[in-house]
Amino acid sequence: MKKIKTQDLKKLNIFLSGKCNLRCKHCFLGNSIYRRSSLSLKQVENVLRFFRKRDYSSVEFSGGEPTLSPILFQSISLARALKYEEIGISTNGTNPAVINQLDPKQVTRFTFSLDGATEKTNDFIRGQGHFTTCVKSIKKSVKSGFTTHVIFTANKINFHEFEKAARELDHIGVDRLSVNYTSFTGNAKKHPELILSPQEWLEINEKAKKIKGLKHIALRYPIRFSKEKARKQDILRKYPCLLQHPNRVYVFSNGAIYYCCLLTDEQNLNSGFVTEKGVVMKHSGNERSLLKTMPRALCPAQELSNRKVGPPSLPDGIKPICIYHRIVVFQGKSHPSN
Ligand code: SF4
Repeated sequence: MKKIKTQDLKKLNIFLSGKCNLRCKHCFLGNSIYRRSSLSLKQVENVLRFFRKRDYSSVEFSGGEPTLSPILFQSISLARALKYEEIGISTNGTNPAVINQLDPKQVTRFTFSLDGATEKTNDFIRGQGHFTTCVKSIKKSVKSGFTTHVIFTANKINFHEFEKAARELDHIGVDRLSVNYTSFTGNAKKHPELILSPQEWLEINEKAKKIKGLKHIALRYPIRFSKEKARKQDILRKYPCLLQHPNRVYVFSNGAIYYCCLLTDEQNLNSGFVTEKGVVMKHSGNERSLLKTMPRALCPAQELSNRKVGPPSLPDGIKPICIYHRIVVFQGKSHPSN
């Protein structure tokens, strides 16, 4: 069993380009400015150097579709030269050939996006032909010895297939299946019918904890909502906003830098920018001042989004929780993780 890396490595997510060969119904980039921009190799180098000096040691290259980026391989070489401990590629799996061009000494992990256990369900969200090619890429990644993760973004169409997907991917030899909640951002705003109710999400949490007989795969999912009868401040103490102690950074293809991926609709809430000249951070590493500019809420991003699009109906007693508080279930035992 490949060792599942502890989650306490400080992680850099670099969105090389917004360019993609798919237009998934829930894509959080939507038709935003990120879709039309790409980072230069110099910007990637600047951001890798800047955050390596600040003890970030895990980097994930994503997009859009990173395997379409002409600077992917050079970016991987730069990260290796700067001694990043973990180097990952988040891909939609439509380019299996890239897996043959890399080996586990260069890249630690491939993470694939697959949103169904059947062709019909997955391709309704991601487009015709995606399921077959992506499963082929997943099998190739496992066979080639890469740590292999899959992200399943749950919605009203596919959430009943989550257990079947977990069993099939376990059988293939995938190391971790992350089940994510479709957030009300990007294209999902055009498909509100896809968004799961908090109750449906909490059902998935319960199901994930109870799945038996998985031999190899770990399941990971964000808690996302809480039914706990507790005061707001107690919930906040138990599930603090990650901006209080950021340990991950998102660098978007237009150069904007965020400490939470749910803030990307709010341009003014970025924490800095990377240009060809270097990295400029607004709050010089102290994000608490950013927090001061945001609503005092269990999830400031959720609160801001509610102000814009109107609050989704949260039933009484159900509270939104920071997306970074997750649970990992491995061989029937569940562990908190972020
Ligand atoms: S998801 Fe909400 S609570 Fe978590 S870091 Fe982002 S703004 Fe903070």
